[in-house]
Amino acid sequence: MSSKNKTLTPKLIKKLWFAFGLLVLLMGVSYIFITGYYANKYNKATIQQVNANVANHVIAEKFSNASPFLEDGSVNKPLFGDLMHDMMAVNHAIEVYLLNDVGEVLYSVVLNHSKNAVTKTVSLAPIKKFIASNGDIFIEGDDPRNPDTEKIFSAAPYNVEGKKGYIYIILTGEDFLNISENLLTSYFTQLGFGATVLTMIFSAIIGLLSIWFLTKNLRLITNTVVDFREGDLNARIKNPEGSDIEIFAHSFNDMADTIVDNMEKMKSVDTLRRELIANVSHDLRTPLAILKGYIETLQIKKDTLSEKEKDNYLQITHDNVDKLSNLIHQLFEYSKLEAEQISPIKEPFSITELSYDLIAKFKVIAQKKEIILTLDCPEENCMVYADVSLVERALQNLIENAIKYTNPYGAVTLSLNNLSKNIEINISDTGSGIPATEQPYIFDRYKQVDKTSKQGTGLGLAIVKKIMDLHETTITVFSEPKEGSSFVFNLPAYQGQ
Ligand code: ADP
Repeated sequence: MSSKNKTLTPKLIKKLWFAFGLLVLLMGVSYIFITGYYANKYNKATIQQVNANVANHVIAEKFSNASPFLEDGSVNKPLFGDLMHDMMAVNHAIEVYLLNDVGEVLYSVVLNHSKNAVTKTVSLAPIKKFIASNGDIFIEGDDPRNPDTEKIFSAAPYNVEGKKGYIYIILTGEDFLNISENLLTSYFTQLGFGATVLTMIFSAIIGLLSIWFLTKNLRLITNTVVDFREGDLNARIKNPEGSDIEIFAHSFNDMADTIVDNMEKMKSVDTLRRELIANVSHDLRTPLAILKGYIETLQIKKDTLSEKEKDNYLQITHDNVDKLSNLIHQLFEYSKLEAEQISPIKEPFSITELSYDLIAKFKVIAQKKEIILTLDCPEENCMVYADVSLVERALQNLIENAIKYTNPYGAVTLSLNNLSKNIEINISDTGSGIPATEQPYIFDRYKQVDKTSKQGTGLGLAIVKKIMDLHETTITVFSEPKEGSSFVFNLPAYQGQ
């Protein structure tokens, strides 16, 4: 089909791609941040562990020979000058502070004095925790030069000449941080870029495959639906058993079957309707034309016609008026039944009594044709549960037909048979019979076996069939041409007397 490839749900695929891309991007960014955070922490923890005893060494080395305080209680700056040289020679990044026992900075040894002023006090809590753990834990303390930040440190207590306090060494001074930040930035830019590109490549491959698999069934459905819409009424979703679209596929296939069925039904209904209109107008036109012709003749030749001729003409007009009224009545009844405007009012009634009444009613007509009309019924009264007037209508049509299609001296019998749960009703005649090929169609509207006979309206049996449908029962015909016909149906027997 022409638009087959245009309709592969591009919107959905775009959405899936967008969601997938976003997911990969978020994963990449989170990966970079998490790795950065833990690498930084790992770096600091390593430095702190490696340098945990630096402060102890300072005390052991420097304070064993000289006091950090002069006699007047001020800080021994030459001692710290030495200390500065020793420390800085090994590691430029560290900063050394001499604290008293409440955390006040008494003296500091740092590079770049100008950069930031040293704060007066640092918190002792992390220092005490660090000392208590013998430097085994990762902990950060106040940075005297940047009061808002925390840094890794080494610390050790001193007690010299009655003065107590701490040697507090910041292990990652500003220089360290600058270098470390530059290194980390470049390292992580490379790492992040590499990781993200790799992740994206793998994700694209996996994504492509998953989207292809995910949308495979969707494509199948879309193609089938498009084919169906474009007129391929045989298009169905193939082999849905066991797939994840099984329920949908079965529903679609059933729906497609129903649509095709309904389309066919509508087509045949339409054909029948057209046939019906054509037949009805023809049937109305014929008696009307006859009527018109006879009335005109009577008007024109009223003075020349004999009384007998006049009577004959009037009888013909009378018969045609009857025919017209019968046709209109049947049509009206049939259209009401077909439009389902009639719902049966079921009640128990005696089919035996109804049969006697009908036989009495048709006796005269039958006698006129020298036809023997008989009722054959069991002695007991047969009760049925049905709509009495609809059943009467059906029986009338059947008896009328039987008389109509039976030649003089023939017989028509209405028999009842008690089958305990049902009463079987049989209308049989010794008439013309119906050819086997025609039998399946006689209950269709306007089907007349002999189209030229024009003896009836062609609606009688269609009405009977509708009445049977309303009673959820069926009527069967047994017929042999030239031997006769039997129409048989059952009605539910009424038990509860
Ligand atoms: P119609 O008004 O033509 O009788 P029906 O619907 O009653 O229409 O019957 C349809 C056709 O079935 C009739 O035209 C006739 O050919 C055939 N048919 C019905 N009943 C009988 C019967 N008892 N014997 C023979 N043919 C019958």
